[in-house]
Formats: sequence, structure tokens, C-alpha cells
Amino acid sequence: MTLSRRDFVSGIALGALAAPGAAATAAPAVEAKQRMRAASAPVIVSAGNGFAYLERAYELLHGGADTLEAAIAVVSGPEDDPNDDSVGLGGLPNEEGVVELDASCMHGPSRRAGSVGGVRNIRNVSRLARDVMLHSGHVMLVGEGAERFAVARGFSRENLLTEASRKTWLLWKESHSDWWGPGLADPAWRDRLHGRHQASAQVEVVQRLQALAQDLGIAPQQQMAAIRKVLFPPTGTIHCSTLAASGEMSGITTTSGLAWKLPGRLGDTPIIGAGCYTDPDVGSAGATGSGEENIKVAGAHTIVENMRRGMAPLEAGMDALKRIVRNYGGDMERLKYIDMTYYVLRKDGAYAGVSLWTGYEPGHPHTIAVHDGAPRLEKTVSLYEGASQEWPPLVVPDKVHL
Ligand code: ASP
Repeated sequence: MTLSRRDFVSGIALGALAAPGAAATAAPAVEAKQRMRAASAPVIVSAGNGFAYLERAYELLHGGADTLEAAIAVVSGPEDDPNDDSVGLGGLPNEEGVVELDASCMHGPSRRAGSVGGVRNIRNVSRLARDVMLHSGHVMLVGEGAERFAVARGFSRENLLTEASRKTWLLWKESHSDWWGPGLADPAWRDRLHGRHQASAQVEVVQRLQALAQDLGIAPQQQMAAIRKVLFPPTGTIHCSTLAASGEMSGITTTSGLAWKLPGRLGDTPIIGAGCYTDPDVGSAGATGSGEENIKVAGAHTIVENMRRGMAPLEAGMDALKRIVRNYGGDMERLKYIDMTYYVLRKDGAYAGVSLWTGYEPGHPHTIAVHDGAPRLEKTVSLYEGASQEWPPLVVPDKVHL
């Protein structure tokens, strides 16, 4: 175990050097135990879609790689995967059919941060966020300026809209729905429920969309998945927090944001303190889910601050979820439309995955991917049992013309 100067003044060494006396040594002993655990093995936590990339990141950490580089090794997996339509290449586009990506990172060892929002044509925005941190005097770049910075740094411009995502977007565009108000937090939110109909009508909607999907050339085996994305605009993102054997930590979050969003919309992902926050003295946290709700509770920062005040990772994450509940006065009618998952990693290697609801749909629970020597997927602990529903809610479209 190595001792830094900060450790020395903050207690471990003072405890070790203090004259024997129960009161003087008790607290430092606990801290020393936690640090020894951190010194024994790296720990990585990520959203479930990072599972396939944990092993390579763990090996990097084991070999002494930087904690942010290891986190990027996880999140760039889904960014490069055209079949993951929640991140990077192949991400579902905004309402105009343009893919706009967001990312933010915090590098614990240097206590620096970087972020990009609404970036077009650049696939690996996680690396771009890191480059903003490393190669500019800023923390956050957005839109065209971020794209130009990327090109100057040697990133290639490319079309991020895959054929599959373009066709799903067309299906949405030609059928219905939009993100123009009122939103869930608007007193007039119930207006969005007008026109909702019975299950029989919903079957009819699906049949009409199926015919439209056929017309657009969407392969039969992909039609139901595309229809689902049109009727229930998906969220999807990846966060990863890493802890090295040295005790160093970093965090990163990257996303294509909410499907069919208004151009220029930023969610929580690029907001340092909402989508991602790392304080190497305490821990790291990140979020996936309803970005608008997470921004209002500064979720990742709230969780890290909760741990600083002594809460365990699970309790710290649950408290952030309860703040979202508080913002709606506990109104379950609206909370059922909110989906939120937090991934929490404390400096001593303790971790938790928490979500507002068990999953998006029955049988598909939210998961946290963990590697602390063995990679695994664990179900998150949810505040409420059951599946969240998508916002905007299913409204029988009256604009479908076949
Ligand atoms: N939080 C992301 C956003 O609001 C979406 C997601 O996590 O699925 O942009």
C-alpha cells in the first residue's frame, strides 16, 4: 500500500502514527481496510450494454492503464457497434433524421472534466469529450464547434445514420408523435393522453404500422422492433466508472440521447454532475434514462455527495431516485413514465446499480455490468416494482396514411 501526501494528512498515516488509543485509531482503521481492498483489485461498473467490453478494460487496468482510458475501452464498444442504436454509430436520430451525440467524462487523477453535446458526424464522442478535457482550455463544447474541434483533432466525419435507423426514423416520421409540448412536467400533461384508446385500437395501430414498415422495406423480422421504437421512443446510453488497484478513478457517459428528440436537445449525459460525476476522494456515478428528470436532481453529483456524507452506494443512489419522485409529489400516474438508472462505484470498490422501475418491460430488468475479477451482469435494485412506460404515451395516430 502506498501512502500519498493526502492520505497522510487525511488520517491513515495519522491513525497509524497516533499513540495507542481507541478513539484516535478507530476511524482510520476502517478507512485503511477500504483502501486495502481498492489496492487489491480493479473494479469496473457500467450499464448493461457494456458487459461485452468489460474484459478488455479490466486487462487494461490490470496492466496499469489510465482509468479514463479503461472506461473509454468499455463505452467505445457500443459507440462502434452499428447494431446498438442508443449510442454512437447507428444511434437513433432526432426528429429531422440527424444523429446527435452527447458525452461527458471526469478524470479522477487530474481532477479534470470534458464534455460535448449535440455533435453530428463524429462517432466516438467519448474520446472527443476526453480531447476537450486534454486539448482545450474549456470543459464543454457543443454542436458545430465541437464537430470542428473533432476534425481538427483528427477525428473523421462520417454518416452515423445506418440504414436500419433511417428506416425506423421514417416509420416514426410517417406515422405520428412528437416531442413538442406539453411535457410530463407541464400542468397540462394530461393533454397528451387525449386520443388514447383501448387495446383493440392499439392492435389496429400496430397492424397499420406493420403495413407501413413493409412499404418502407423494413425486413419482416425487424418490423416489430422498429414499430416498438416508434410507439415507445427508446432511451439508451452507456456509463462506465473505473477504479484501479492504485485507488485512482474515472467516469464517462456517452449517448445518442432520446430517439426523435428536437434538434439541439441535450439530455443529462453531457452535463457534468448529472450524467456523470467522479470525485476521486469519494467515488463515481453515472446515469441512463430520462435525461430531463436527471438534470433536475443533478443525479450523479447528488449520489457522490451522498456518499461523501456517509451513505452507502445503494442508499446514495436511492436518495437521488427519491428526489425525482419528490419533483412529482409522488404522483405515480406520472412517475410510471419515468425511467432512471444509476451506476454507483465508491472509492473502496463497493458498488450499486439502482433504478426507479425494475425494467422497461416485464422480463427485461435493468442491469449493471460489473467486473471486479469476474465479469457479470446483476439486476439493479429498484425503488418500484414493475416496468416503466414510455413518454410520450401511446396515442392512436391519426396521421397514418397508407
Ligand atoms: N439519458 C439519456 C438522455 O436523456 C438517454 C438514456 O439514457 O437513454 O439523453
